[in-house]
Order: sequence, then C-alpha cells, then structure tokens
Amino acid sequence: MRAVVLGGGIAGLLAAQALTDHVDEVVVVERDRLPEGPQQRSGVPQSAHLHALLSRGLREIEQLLPGFAADLVAAGARVFDFSADTAIYNPSGWGARFPSPLRIYGASRLLMESVLRDRVRTHPKVEVSSGRAVEGLVGDTTTVTGVRLHATHTPIDADLVVDATGRGSRADRWLAELGCPPVPEAVVDAHVGYASRQYDIPERHTADWHACYVQLAAPHRPRGAVLAPIEGNRWIVSLLGVKAHRPTRAEGDFLNFVRSLPTPAIAHALTNATPLTPIVTTHATGNRRRYVEHARSQPTNLIRLGDAVCNLNPVYAQGMSTAAAGATLLAHCCRTRRNGTDFAARFHRQLARITDWAWQSTTAGDLSWPTTEGGPATPVQRLITRYTNHVFTSATKSPQVQRAVLDVLHLLRPPRSLLAPSTVTRTLWPPLRAPRTGAHRG
Ligand SMILES: Cc1cc2nc3c(=O)[nH]c(=O)nc-3n(C[C@H](O)[C@H](O)[C@H](O)COP(=O)(O)OP(=O)(O)OC[C@H]3O[C@@H](n4cnc5c(N)ncnc54)[C@H](O)[C@@H]3O)c2cc1C
Repeated sequence: MRAVVLGGGIAGLLAAQALTDHVDEVVVVERDRLPEGPQQRSGVPQSAHLHALLSRGLREIEQLLPGFAADLVAAGARVFDFSADTAIYNPSGWGARFPSPLRIYGASRLLMESVLRDRVRTHPKVEVSSGRAVEGLVGDTTTVTGVRLHATHTPIDADLVVDATGRGSRADRWLAELGCPPVPEAVVDAHVGYASRQYDIPERHTADWHACYVQLAAPHRPRGAVLAPIEGNRWIVSLLGVKAHRPTRAEGDFLNFVRSLPTPAIAHALTNATPLTPIVTTHATGNRRRYVEHARSQPTNLIRLGDAVCNLNPVYAQGMSTAAAGATLLAHCCRTRRNGTDFAARFHRQLARITDWAWQSTTAGDLSWPTTEGGPATPVQRLITRYTNHVFTSATKSPQVQRAVLDVLHLLRPPRSLLAPSTVTRTLWPPLRAPRTGAHRG
C-alpha cells in the first residue's frame, strides 16, 4: 500500500511519519527543492516569523518521533520554563510567574522543520520527492487513485492521499475537477500584520525573563510584540498590529513601533541589540476553516491536515500543534481502521474535535475587534470575552489562574476549563495581595 503526502512542511512530514507503521511506502511530494539544514525556502514564507511550539505540539511530536526535543536542543534550541521565564503582558498587566513543568524550546521555524525533516526522511519507508509541484488528483468522487504533477504525464499512483499543502491548498479546486461538491468554509480575519527580524542577544541583557510577550488586547491595545530566544544566541522579535496598526518593513518604524507598546520591556532589551536580518512582514494571518467533516461526497481515501484544513491566526501559536495533533490522530485512525468504513470521513470527524478547541479560542479573541471580517461576535462570544478579560486580571495576581490560562494557551486543556469552579472563584473573588512570584524586572 502506498500513501502519497502532498507538501513537505510540518504537517506533511508528521503525517508521513504517522503513516510509516501502517503502509508499505510513503512518498512526500514537495514543490520546493528542499535544502540541507535550516535554510529559508519560498514555500514557507512564514518561517521568517517567530514560531512557538506549544507544549501540546511537543507532546504530540514526541509520540511520533521520540527524542525530537533532545534533537532540537542538540541543534541549538534554547529550553526554558514558559511560566517562570516568559514575561507576559496580558490585557490587565503582567501575568503571574512561577516555576512549572511547561517547557518551551526556543528555535526558529527553519530549525524545527530541518530537525523534523532529517528524522523523517531517513525512515526506510519514506521517500521525499522535492522540487515537484502537485497539479491535481486522479480518481472520482469516491476514491482518489493518484496525484498529477507539474510537467509530468504519468501520475503517481496512491492508495491514500494526504493534503498538507498548507494555507494555499488547492485541493478544493482539484476535487471540483473530479466532480465533488464544494466544502463549506468559514473565514474570521482580524487583519493582524506581522513584522519580524532577528537580533544578536547582547551580553548586557539583564532582564529576569528569557522571552517577553506583549499581547494584543481588544479594543484598546492594537499593538503587541513577542521576543524569544532561538538558536545561535539570537532573539527573534515579531511585532503584531491590527488593521491600521500593522507594522511596516521600514527600517525606522520597527523600533518606533516597539517604543509605542504599553510597556518598555522589549524596547529596553533591544537598546543594545544588533539587528542581524532584514525586516520581513506578512498580512496572511486570517483564520480559515474548511469543514471537511460536513462535506458531501468526498473521496474516502483523501485526508486533509494542518493549514490545508484550518489555518489559525498565528498570534495564538497553535498551527504546528494542531497539525501535530492531527498527525497523531491519523496514526490512531490507521491503527483502529475497520474494513468497509469511510476512513477519511471518520478521520475528519475526529479531527474536527481537535480543531474546535483552537478555532473557538482564536476566533473568540479575534471577534472582539470591531473591524474583524467574519463578525460580529455573537452575544455568547461577547460574554466569553468579558469573562476572559476578568480571568486575565486575576491571572496577574493568582499563579493558579495564570496556570489555567497557560494550559489553555498551550492546548493542554479546552477553553471551557477556564470555567472550572477553582478558576471562577479566584476570578470573581481575587486574592487581595499579589504574590511575590509575579514580580517582574524588565
Ligand atoms: C506569520 C506566521 C507566524 C506563525 N507562528 C506560529 C507559531 O508561533 N506557532 C505555530 O504553531 N504556528 C505558527 N504559524 C503557523 C504554522 O506556520 C503552520 O500552521 C504550520 O507550519 C503547519 O503548516 P502546514 O505544514 O500545514 O503548511 P506549511 O508549513 O505552509 O507547508 C506547506 C508545504 O506544502 C508545500 N506545497 C504547497 N503547494 C504545493 C504543491 N502544489 N505541490 C507540492 N507541495 C506544495 C509548500 O512548499 C510547503 O512546504 C505561523 C504562521 C504564520 C503565517
């Protein structure tokens, strides 16, 4: 049995690994010529921006590739305690900080993908065919039998196809050519812009944090930023701005934007830091979900994964983690496969539950901006936002509430877990005095 995975990004590589125990061969078809090592390539322009791998994502990747975290560290990633060593300026102020087992592996997206690629492509069942663009599918409305490539007449035969071609996936068009009806979809776009660049970490950096995150907060804080350490003693800094506040590529604007943030913590840190890269911007940050699980007449052997099925506003850093959770689900569905059932439909129904967590939190947050496309927020969403703002206020004083917030942020617990009685009580009757662990030096 041969599986063909379209796209060799994070979702494609993880899907290939997930399939190795269940098929005879996996062919990964990637449009870019894949580099040796962590080199920028045109198919993943987002690699120039900060990529945080959440605890959930790391856990899922470790299931598929045990030792991945150790490989990342060996390649130069910086490990730190997310809750103790990250200063988070939430809508109400600095979140409480305290030791926890939540680890973050500070690394560029290029390094993460390169470590992943090195692991996956050495598997004896995996063939990575790079520099080849997929142009269509062969088959009918019930079964895909192959994949058409650019400038080649002979398709690649496939028993199972996984679309992991990312945000720009053309699978809907390819399926329409086979006669499949369109897949329902939703778009929620807060029009967030990114501008990113890397800096050398100065020797004189004395702040008591390793990473700093100034969150966007509707409706009064349309500017935010993240600074985090990555391999090579570097910081990556991504500026975040909503609509008219989207940061630009202009040299002088970068530091002016940083100085306009509601806290000077990042501006102080950058005072003596040397920029190492040009400024790179993107506006491609909208949430878009394809409800494949609700589609009629989809091929039973076509799986869609990662950004190809749902892309999420990256300020919540959930894309790689939901892709990884989808890949481990794929392995699970292969293990528990029953003859005569619709494999793809079963997979997509279960994937929808994973996607729901991420989609609910990103879209609820994004819909709190009055300018968001896909709105307005429903009364229930407005209520959730108001309650979440109270939770953030409580999280500046209570380590327990901050921990509950971080668990949701890291996709370890669903958003509804913030309604647990212990969190509700602390939120509505917050402690009178801030704990010493919340102290912050910028
Ligand atoms: C600005 C920005 C910041 C982000 N920050 C974070 C973050 O902090 N944390 C996080 O978890 N996620 C983040 N993300 C999201 C993350 O990049 C993706 O969710 C994640 O990489 C999963 O992507 P994927 O593998 O589905 O798609 P991609 O990584 O986009 O890979 C798709 C692959 O398919 C290939 N391809 C496309 N078309 C074809 C074709 N026709 N034939 C063959 N190959 C093709 C492409 O070349 C590419 O290699 C961010 C995204 C953006 C835009």
